[in-house]
Amino acid sequence: TQKKDEDLDKPLPKGVVLDKDGKPCRLCTSVASWRALTKQASSASSSSNTSSSSSPTLSPPSLSDNNASSIPGANDDDCPPDVEALGRSTWTFLHSLTAAYPPRATSEQQLEMHSFLKLFSRLYPCWVCADDFRAWMNQSGGRNEPRLSGRSEFGTWMCEAHNAVNRKLGKKEFDCRFWEERWRTGWKD
Ligand code: FAD
Repeated sequence: TQKKDEDLDKPLPKGVVLDKDGKPCRLCTSVASWRALTKQASSASSSSNTSSSSSPTLSPPSLSDNNASSIPGANDDDCPPDVEALGRSTWTFLHSLTAAYPPRATSEQQLEMHSFLKLFSRLYPCWVCADDFRAWMNQSGGRNEPRLSGRSEFGTWMCEAHNAVNRKLGKKEFDCRFWEERWRTGWKD
């Protein structure tokens, strides 16, 4: 039982983010950290099976709990997204939104997009990402307010927003002069 107690008392593996209900937030955590957590939880529960004590409070579903291999047509790609897969898909969506934005937007189009971005920054399912993104948008002086007068301004603004996240994560910044080639026209030869 000493091993079990050690497992239950262990700090969470690095990179695991908790949800607001105190349970691990998969959409806020990378696959690597999630795997470390499921390993820790399964080692704790196998130890606790040998005693009558209650199971750990932090018990994420295992990465293989969905039995993907036994479902016809299912594979590893059918697993729920982690913070990175969610991020990549969302950036594709957000930059495509700017690519499809009109060169000159009407005030109604600007208003609609503004409402969308405000809601997006509240509802993005990785809550820590959403909180930081909202804080960036609302930075004092209004310097990060969405610029929505047309495609070029909006595309550059989105690129700057993405770069703010890149900086936070220690990733290389993207040269925003090329956002349109990356997301709309394709690279020039
Ligand atoms: P991504 O950053 O997903 O980029 C995808 C592609 O976009 C790149 O391959 C590149 O071609 C292009 N690209 C890169 N930068 C730019 C740019 N500035 N402008 C235009 N195109 C560009 N993850 C966390 O761990 N913590 C967070 O707090 C967090 N916050 C996020 C907030 C938001 C709003 C979003 C949408 C995602 C957030 N993410 C966060 C996820 C993170 O940004 C990445 O998506 C994830 O780490 C995967 O990164 P990646 O290196 O595959 O490329």
